[in-house]
Amino acid sequence: MSRFARDHHVIIWEEPVFDAGAEPSLDLSICAKSGVTVAVPHLNPEQGDLHGKQLRRLLDELMATRSGPLVRWYYTPMMLPFSRHLQAECTVYDCMDELKNFKFAPPELLPLEEELLKAADVVFTGGYSLYEAKRERHLNVHAFPSSVDVRHFSQGRSAQADPADQAQLPHPRFGFYGVIDERVDLDLLQAAAEARPDWSFIMVGPVVKISEADLPRLPNIAYLGGKDYQELPAYLSGWDVAMMPFAINEATRFISPTKTPEYLAAGRPVVSTPIKDVIRHYGELDAVQIASNAKDFVAGCERALALKDERDWLRPVDAVLSTMSWDETAAQMKALIVEAAEERKVSTTADNQKPHYDVLVVGAGFAGSVMAERLARDAGKKVLVIDRRPHIAGNAYDLPNEDGILYHLYGPHIFHTNSEEIFSYLSRFTKWRPYEHKVLANVRDKLVPMPINRTTLNMLYGLNLQTDEEAEAYLESRAEPVDEIKTSADVVVSKVGTELYQLFFQGYTRKQWGMDPSELDKSVTSRVPTRTNTDDRYFTDSFQAMPLNGFTAMFASMLDHPNIELRLGVEWEDVAREVSYDKLVFTGPIDEYFGYRYGKLPYRSLRFQHETIDTEVFQPVAVVNYPSEDVPYTRITEYKYLTGQEAPKTSITYEYPSAEGDPYYPIPRPENQALFKRYEALALAEPNVIFVGRLATYRYYNMDQVVGQALATYRRLKAAEEAEMEVMESAALQASASERPALFGTTMSKATARNGSSETAATPAE
Ligand code: FAD
Ligand code: UDP
Repeated sequence: MSRFARDHHVIIWEEPVFDAGAEPSLDLSICAKSGVTVAVPHLNPEQGDLHGKQLRRLLDELMATRSGPLVRWYYTPMMLPFSRHLQAECTVYDCMDELKNFKFAPPELLPLEEELLKAADVVFTGGYSLYEAKRERHLNVHAFPSSVDVRHFSQGRSAQADPADQAQLPHPRFGFYGVIDERVDLDLLQAAAEARPDWSFIMVGPVVKISEADLPRLPNIAYLGGKDYQELPAYLSGWDVAMMPFAINEATRFISPTKTPEYLAAGRPVVSTPIKDVIRHYGELDAVQIASNAKDFVAGCERALALKDERDWLRPVDAVLSTMSWDETAAQMKALIVEAAEERKVSTTADNQKPHYDVLVVGAGFAGSVMAERLARDAGKKVLVIDRRPHIAGNAYDLPNEDGILYHLYGPHIFHTNSEEIFSYLSRFTKWRPYEHKVLANVRDKLVPMPINRTTLNMLYGLNLQTDEEAEAYLESRAEPVDEIKTSADVVVSKVGTELYQLFFQGYTRKQWGMDPSELDKSVTSRVPTRTNTDDRYFTDSFQAMPLNGFTAMFASMLDHPNIELRLGVEWEDVAREVSYDKLVFTGPIDEYFGYRYGKLPYRSLRFQHETIDTEVFQPVAVVNYPSEDVPYTRITEYKYLTGQEAPKTSITYEYPSAEGDPYYPIPRPENQALFKRYEALALAEPNVIFVGRLATYRYYNMDQVVGQALATYRRLKAAEEAEMEVMESAALQASASERPALFGTTMSKATARNGSSETAATPAE
């Protein structure tokens, strides 16, 4: 960064510091030696900054004072949440460690790294092992194993004043500098020190994440704490051998310790445990001993010590070091950045020639159509709505058959809701036909009301229950108490007992879901109540009605807006290549969106058999359920009841449940929810993609719930956009009020975290 700062303006954005009671502010200082600006955000711990809002405001205020092209440079994906909106000529991900393998790595690191890899134009890795780990994940990855500031460290080859805190330690001395954390093999250090009580083991560096109490305490091990980069050659000069007692674990699998060439530049032989990149780059040198256990480590130290008196081993060391200059590395990196920025310009120009939409909505069902309507009509956005099916309305699609009688292609859809808001919203797009849904169940060759009510009990058992109380007492006599109601079997058995459960629920559910109710979450059968009165409506919601001219007509009216364009029968990935857009609303299956990365989310499907029957009336109500497992279908629907159409013929649909086919029903089970949560974590890291609807949020939602979810999602989106505008306006105001002159012509910003560059104990000036 010092080298980049010669021609550009470099800002290093540090991790925030928390000051009790302080207003959020940014502390800016310019490093006199390098010209690098260091920005340290100060935050108030009481206010917190859960979503990075404060950081974002501070960053925006800073950026408002700068002009010219910008390069975003990330050492850690954790800096993305407050900086992802910055428009840059080039985004660099400079990956120095596999941070996710570190102790206490936060769970959002992985999805954020995923996002960063997508956003980055070029990726640098601090070593070859890391390169191997990342090269499949980005098209423009380049390995930059550690460079070394030979001039600085070669001071260690000549005698320096021994720093006071190591001056008293007897020789031979074996020294290490670096962060002391889970990556150091403390057992090995202890065993080596015990084996050679007359040797001094010197540990320079801060103790991080592990407890001081875990450190081996022996008279011949000295812990000297962290030192400044400038002081390191003096410490090195006082050692006989430098060491890297690294543990071989997940946290060290990809490291490429910068200290190796630094030790060598200071003329110290090195003893290391078998770190892959150390063996790869330095394993051939006599100066570097590799040992995997304490006994071999001590033997390696003996051999390294013996090298002290002969200098031949330094020649090949210097040959290797001569190829590793920071000047060369900086020049190569700069060339790659310029190239990547050019590449981005070319593809952005190509993007600019594509038709542009503010929002691309995938799926023209309830979720997608409500979002599109709100975005177009309320927010004035230009929206493209697409669906892989050749029609709008998603699963609620209805159409006339060859005799002009309406039917629902994906099974019966009956609208009901308790929400005034949802009903009145949809009323903008349709008139209604009042309709209260009735269902009969075919049980023991009788057609009885479903949900189970007093009439059901009387008909089935030849009873004469006259009042709610009598029916309640009857059900209580059958009910079988269940300690904790967890499954869909518990819900029903605890209310009506085993026999009614088996007659009405067990077979139906086994057919519908391909599993026993005892294996399904209680929410499934809880949808169907048990009644003690004679109410034979399937739903009791306050609003029950069907769109007067059908669902498809309602959707057509909803999507009829000059800002909405429709493309049907197309896959979103194909469309995404042909158009550009700022935001994506995705209403398809969330697992599909992420390429089934964690495996498929289970869905239940159906096969519909639609028929036109040459008779005016086929059955006594709209739907007859067939709970018995002897019948392969679950229910038959006759649509005329829903639509009120009059015709000499009638349209009906049989529903055959199936494991294969379109994903219709998310399957409510704890393990499926756990899998969904993993996908949801990925979704949260995609700020420009909004997941809405039954498939995208993996919820067994009715139509009205999806409408409610979409309306709420839109409201949140609008509020976030308004807040964003406010932040931008206030940043612009503050910038112009303070009249700070732009300091530099061009701006290069660098976001860094200490974690990302913690290989040396010193402030990483290089
Ligand atoms: P969908 O309607 O499934 O819409 C998603 C759309 O996205 C689909 O059209 C799909 O083709 C499209 N899509 C997905 N992936 C892609 C892609 N990669 N590229 C392009 N397009 C894509 N609810 C009720 O309230 N009452 C009922 O009576 C009722 N009955 C139902 C009966 C059945 C048989 C079923 C299956 C559901 C029923 N529902 C009912 C639930 C209702 O269907 C849903 O709540 C509602 O349709 C969900 O809307 P959505 O927009 O989330 O999903
Ligand atoms: N159910 C049942 N018997 C019935 C009706 C429903 O066992 O006669 C169970 C079944 O598991 C079903 C669940 O209750 O999946 C919810 O029924 P609902 O009618 O609400 O399902 P929908 O068809 O609306 O998804």
